[in-house]
Amino acid sequence: MALLILGGTAEARELALALQHVPGARVSLAGATRHPRRLALPVRQGGFGGADGFAAYLRCEGITGVLDATHPFAAQITARSRAVCDELGIAYRQLLRPAWASGAGDCWHHVADAASAVDILPGQARVFLATGRQSVDGFSGLGARAVFVRVIDPPEMPFPFASGGYVTGLPPADISEEIALFKRLGVTWLVTKNSGGAQGQAKLHAARQIGIPVAMIARPPGATDRLFARVSDARDWALGDAPI
Ligand code: NAP
Repeated sequence: MALLILGGTAEARELALALQHVPGARVSLAGATRHPRRLALPVRQGGFGGADGFAAYLRCEGITGVLDATHPFAAQITARSRAVCDELGIAYRQLLRPAWASGAGDCWHHVADAASAVDILPGQARVFLATGRQSVDGFSGLGARAVFVRVIDPPEMPFPFASGGYVTGLPPADISEEIALFKRLGVTWLVTKNSGGAQGQAKLHAARQIGIPVAMIARPPGATDRLFARVSDARDWALGDAPI
């Protein structure tokens, strides 16, 4: 199979490592992160130029299988990739990590989107926004609240809120680092998307330990077929060991 992995996640990186010896396999990244971590397969970077550009790329490169390991909130690329692959008769599967679920001691408020998250935040809240740089516009309704925005790359745009600031860098895996950060900033609410996965979970454990409520934004609706939840199952499919 001439395989294209649509990436931008830790799982795509794991898959690339597991499939590094597969001839012709490669990864596509949107180019959202300025210095993406090294992948074990060749990488192409940047959008394809819409559905037509994607179809042209697949045909031109002789791709016979697409493994969509994009982020659970990257809804456009997923819907588009499914549709184009179906049209061209190319095998398509999605690797979708399970969503996070609350446990004892959590205080989660489930919301549908950014606007609904803003609606439930008290006027005096000091908000830690862990939803990614691209979703910041959706929180313009936060008004005068102090907002701390986690971004991976140092931002080029000016800080868009009245008070607070950027917190630059990858999220730490260490819960105590998150606790120390939240305490230092005086955070009283955490806002996050239900991305799932191990990376980024430390903030939720930290919030639980120090009693910070969480506005948890639900995933966009998506298809329920041709899904893998585990990297190993996606790998087996790509290797032809477990066709579904
Ligand atoms: P999106 O809204 O679903 O897609 C927007 C456009 O970005 C697509 O139409 C496509 O452009 C391009 N694109 C997305 N993923 C691509 C890929 N792997 N390779 C080439 N082009 C890609 O996606 P998004 O939410 O902006 O996310 C962009 C990337 O960041 C994704 O790869 C995703 O895995 C990663 N990411 C997203 C989030 C999130 O919260 N959304 C979080 C972490 C990582 P063309 O139409 O020009 O082909």
